Amino acid sequence: MTKQYKYKKLNSFIKTAVISNICVFCVIPHVNAQTQVTSSGENVPYETALHAFDKSYDTKWLTFSEKGWISYMFDKPTLVTGYTLTSGNDAASRDPKNWQLQGTNDGINWVHLDSRTSESFSARKQSKLYSLNNILSFNQVRLNVTSNNGGSYLQLSEIQFETQNNPNTLPLFDSASLSKGIWKHYGPFDTVNSKITAKTTGSGDTDLYMRRGSKATRAHYDCIDANATSTERCELSGNDVYVSVYAYNNITYNININDPIIEPPSGDWIAPLVTFVDMNPETQGSKLVNRILQNPASHMAKRCIDVAKILYRDPLQSNRFKNLRFELRALDFQGNEFVAYKTGQDGSGEMTIAVSTTHLEKLYREGGNSDSAISDEISGILFHEVTHGYNNSPLTHDGYGDGKSYWAYTEGLADGVRIGAGFHKTRQPDVNNPKKWLAGYTTTGFFLHYVVDRIDPNFIYKFNKTAKDLTNYTWSFENAFQQVLNRSVDDVWNEYQVFINNGGKLNY
Ligand SMILES: [Zn+2]
Repeated sequence: MTKQYKYKKLNSFIKTAVISNICVFCVIPHVNAQTQVTSSGENVPYETALHAFDKSYDTKWLTFSEKGWISYMFDKPTLVTGYTLTSGNDAASRDPKNWQLQGTNDGINWVHLDSRTSESFSARKQSKLYSLNNILSFNQVRLNVTSNNGGSYLQLSEIQFETQNNPNTLPLFDSASLSKGIWKHYGPFDTVNSKITAKTTGSGDTDLYMRRGSKATRAHYDCIDANATSTERCELSGNDVYVSVYAYNNITYNININDPIIEPPSGDWIAPLVTFVDMNPETQGSKLVNRILQNPASHMAKRCIDVAKILYRDPLQSNRFKNLRFELRALDFQGNEFVAYKTGQDGSGEMTIAVSTTHLEKLYREGGNSDSAISDEISGILFHEVTHGYNNSPLTHDGYGDGKSYWAYTEGLADGVRIGAGFHKTRQPDVNNPKKWLAGYTTTGFFLHYVVDRIDPNFIYKFNKTAKDLTNYTWSFENAFQQVLNRSVDDVWNEYQVFINNGGKLNY
């Protein structure tokens, strides 16, 4: 019963406090010098103001008055986003009841940050967190208690500040003591290298949580390690990841939050270096992409690996594609409206893909304000274009041009990969084009996907391989189909045409 009550109470004051949207993580200020802590009065030598900042609930600050103030000086201007007060070991009548939290940069003019009235602590050494909607930084913060709960003295065993402090910089190390039922939140962090990884050690029953998008609760999280010890580990990929420590009982813990660089051993799939360039962040299209994709560069790097794995079985064959620059822009480089374009020579290992923010915004509206319309379109463009970055190029005599085999191979393979990955759902097979498999783009792409879907699931990989294996200008659709399927391309096309004309449906 007691436990439930405390937990409810904790939730209710977290809910009533407005937590600002900015990135915060919590630190306990380190007491470096006595001058950092001052007070209206203290009980020298054992119950001085320093004891309110010594990370121990077994010591306290006591002043021989029913009211008083205690002040903490930071090393530099600091944004305080919340504070935790922990009651003393005895005499609930000495607990603070009414107070203000104030900040200053000159020691003279104090700015109001928070005020509380009629507060009480239901237990000894109980911690209560008060969140602030503060956006100003101060050198010094003061708790000014104007009355206690009826006793002759005023006391607190601990004061902790939640501060904003380079929230995206990892690794992060922290240590803290929390009393039963109290949370401490870190982040949010973005995954840059691999996964946000957090580990705790210490004493007591520490529970570790992670959640994307908002702070974890005991009911809502994306990762949890809640065994009965203080040694916990969680990891989570993505963007906007909060790491949270929950004190199942009184705990003292160390936490290490990291985003380790994983060096792939030789032979592993290696993503190209993706540079995401947001040319017009003020546009709705850009805002949509940044909201929906969370971490665009990481999203795109993963799509590149997806494509490489479709085209190759051995990672060492696919490492040629090194750099991908992805631009979101309102107009093309000549200042004209556009949809999407690619620059960079196929096979050079370098590619720039540009996508129009106007186009994306339009798709989003036409798709009924659907997030998936945006992510599917970007994934679709990536699957097509990135295929150009990885695929083998056949040696043919006819070059790149409408209806020619090199062109039909290049654009058909790219759309075949896109279709197979499920990002061309709005398009249909076209079996009536007189150019047949030489019609390129989706006409060729659906034909290749037919072979994948109905004849050989590894066909795309094998088809790409023919472009390397058929040397000395011997590559053609006919020779490629003969090599992979031992059938003529015309024979397979006719079978495909009959299948579609009879109402056959491909999976895509
Ligand atoms: Zn293309």
